[in-house]
Amino acid sequence: MADRFAPPPYALLVLRRLERAGFEAWFVGGCVRDSLLGRAPGDWDVATSARPEQVQACFQGFSTADVGARHGTILVAVEGRPVEVTTFRRDGAYSDSRHPDGVTFSPRLEEDLCRRDFTVNAMAWHPERGLRDCFGGQEDLERRVLRCVGDPARRFSEDALRVLRCLRFAAVLGFSIERDTARALWEHQGLLPGLSAERVREELTKLLCGEQAPQVLREYSGIIFTLLPELVPMCGCTQETPYHCYTVWEHTLHALGHAPQNATLRWAAFLHDSGKPGAKFFSPDGVAHFYGHAGLSEQLAQGLLARLRFPNKERERVCSLIGAHSQALPLSEKRIKKLLGKQGEEWFFQLLDLMAADNSGKQPDLCPPRLALIGEARELAQEILAEGACLTLKGLAVKGNDLLNLGYAPGPELGAALQALLDLVVAGEIPNEKGALEERALALKEETSRHGAP
Ligand code: ATP
Ligand code: MG
Repeated sequence: MADRFAPPPYALLVLRRLERAGFEAWFVGGCVRDSLLGRAPGDWDVATSARPEQVQACFQGFSTADVGARHGTILVAVEGRPVEVTTFRRDGAYSDSRHPDGVTFSPRLEEDLCRRDFTVNAMAWHPERGLRDCFGGQEDLERRVLRCVGDPARRFSEDALRVLRCLRFAAVLGFSIERDTARALWEHQGLLPGLSAERVREELTKLLCGEQAPQVLREYSGIIFTLLPELVPMCGCTQETPYHCYTVWEHTLHALGHAPQNATLRWAAFLHDSGKPGAKFFSPDGVAHFYGHAGLSEQLAQGLLARLRFPNKERERVCSLIGAHSQALPLSEKRIKKLLGKQGEEWFFQLLDLMAADNSGKQPDLCPPRLALIGEARELAQEILAEGACLTLKGLAVKGNDLLNLGYAPGPELGAALQALLDLVVAGEIPNEKGALEERALALKEETSRHGAP
């Protein structure tokens, strides 16, 4: 089994240094779980019998940060890689469903393991002493089951974040949730609105990026809706159109499953049709229509992501993709250039990924031809970029100064003229050449002085 564990040298150094100073030290939590699963661990956390001040004394000469000495955690940086070193501890009572009222340091590893959330996260490993598994974590890993350490009801009422962590691990690892643990999840969902927005955002983001996110969201939608009640109307919203075969919610789960597993695209896919229930109407032939739903979805996403305190830049990225997702296909060269110029290359390819995910969740017959059109748009965009075509004012063959020389006055008229010239170049109506642009600029100026501003 030891061959499944490959702690990197910087993490081993931390363990050995604590041991040389006479303390006990183990790798714990996620790195043990992931190593046993054959997944690459994200970080190597260490638990130790050393008190926080003793940990700091062991790592003099290293950069350390006291990220929670009250809870016993010191961050030690080795070769620029951070390792969390936490003193064995028992948690005190939890009176707010969020934080223990106090922690007591303990000399025993076993006590530290029993405060951890799920059996698969409550194992420790040491290069010579091997695995310490007091709660059947290894067996649960083999059976691919998430089970609380101890009484699930107590564990969720102590810390409601564990409800979301459970769904997150189910989505990321593809594990099922043991029956009593699952029952307690439902019983404690009412505590979720008390969690901080940031913690909810982090967990939901990881959940959405999980391979099995659609399955988990389908099975536990009621719990997710406790946190995101504005999504409830998607659930019963049928789509009587030739393009769809699912309700809006079910379509969303399919689109989500087809989206690349990164936060931007998973959130965009998750919310791309959230405004559909509000846009739905029937024409006399009994067909449903959802005009303007992309804009409504964008608005709903703005509110939801602001509530979860997304950084503005990330929120704007997700929302602008949602607002643009229902482009008519095929995308013309002019449209592609316009979008590339306005939003940039990275955004544009994310939009195509979102559109592909969306179309993969529609009527199955429609999917292959739509995906082919999106593929063509991708190729065309790559050609446009390779050619170095002019897409922004920066690439235009005339600058503000050139227009000033033609008699333009500084100010908004000059800005509008540059934009009008860019639009003509992007549309392929005039070449991006100084002479042709100056000629058109003069004509525009004459027109404006005759008729007023365009
Ligand atoms: P990841 O791969 O996301 O890092 P992880 O299991 O390492 O997963 P962390 O949030 O880094 O998760 O936490 C490290 C360990 O601390 C967990 O494996 C678990 O043992 C314990 N833990 C973290 N959060 C809680 C919690 N809210 N309640 C109980 N134990 C927790
Ligand atoms: Mg971790």
